[in-house]
Amino acid sequence: MTEKYISKTVQKVPPSGIRKFFDIASEMKECISLGVGEPDFDTPWNIRESAIYALESGRTHYTSNHGSTDLRNEIIRYMSVRFSLSYELPQVVVTIGASEALDLAFRAIMNPGDEVLVPAPSYVSYMPGISFAGGVPVPMELNESDNFIITPQSIKQAITKKTKAIVIAFPNNPTGAVMTREDYEQIVPIIIENDLLVISDEIYAELTYGDAHCSIASLPGMAERTVVINGFSKAFAMTGFRLGYSAGPRPVIDAMVKIHQYSMLCASAFSQDAGVEALRAGLGGGFPQVTKMKNEYNRRRRLMFARLNEMGLTCFEPLGAFYIFPNISKTGLRSDEFCERLLYEQKVACVPGTAFGGEAGNDFVRCSYASSLENLKEALCRIKRFIDGL
Ligand code: PLP
Repeated sequence: MTEKYISKTVQKVPPSGIRKFFDIASEMKECISLGVGEPDFDTPWNIRESAIYALESGRTHYTSNHGSTDLRNEIIRYMSVRFSLSYELPQVVVTIGASEALDLAFRAIMNPGDEVLVPAPSYVSYMPGISFAGGVPVPMELNESDNFIITPQSIKQAITKKTKAIVIAFPNNPTGAVMTREDYEQIVPIIIENDLLVISDEIYAELTYGDAHCSIASLPGMAERTVVINGFSKAFAMTGFRLGYSAGPRPVIDAMVKIHQYSMLCASAFSQDAGVEALRAGLGGGFPQVTKMKNEYNRRRRLMFARLNEMGLTCFEPLGAFYIFPNISKTGLRSDEFCERLLYEQKVACVPGTAFGGEAGNDFVRCSYASSLENLKEALCRIKRFIDGL
């Protein structure tokens, strides 16, 4: 089979830098993986039970393309209570994970050559997703000295006349950075002045360890230009359910639904019922199951932060998600070299910072702490041995 059949755009996009390390780690005995980007907890039982009940009740058919009305109503209530955002039913679409919502958003807005600003480092899918949709991803370099937030300067350096949209992604994967309302107030005037659409990936919104999450859509003038992306994978440990959603201005959501209608049709009906249970059962009581998992992540976060800094891998304090992003420049190794040697010499898998936006991440590695305390302690001992042996 020759490559001539493959689209040039697809050929140009490199394979995911995360997968490579996953594949090696999964074959290696006694390897501890800090590479995973998913909760190590099982989905809370009441949520699983509601999916089982849905199947038993024959919820095995397509739902509306928009998603079930029950679930969309719960999402609207949830977004209002948790993030002070206000939406009507047609402004919400249920998707197959946040991943599909991102893909729909990019495809809905892009004309060939349109530029989209993407934080670098950030989640691996944004840049390829924009390229696949015919757009041009433009990295917006974020610095450790700014705690990896987007500043007016980072936007000004990357913006051109062709810039149509900006991706905002906090709490951030891979850095663990969060942006506060005050941080957003600094960049909102530039966004409005340049008439940019915002695609705000808020999938880690429930996992913050300081102040509660602030959505950029809640700032004055921003709801009408922000497409919020969220989902159930991280907060509710529901990665396998493949359930996400997007809420935003009606014309963009309508366009997203149009693509969804001709491609995925709907998220699975029993996953949507499980989503209803997750939100309905949680909202009344302040999400005790989410809080329990979050408290556990927080214990692990503190351990990782303290120990990595002690051994000289300095890191800024991550205040969201379940990742920490130590600076490895002292070792003199490139991030991919560091990860490869750590994997082969000490059987610990991390992800090179370069996987999240090229050279901007070269001084860093991403460690996920969605792993048991016992595993993390052992991994930290091995990392220390590796550093001491250099
Ligand atoms: N957005 C970010 C920032 C992520 O880290 C991930 C998964 O790792 C996703 C989106 C995809 O989430 P989902 O499982 O809902 O497709």
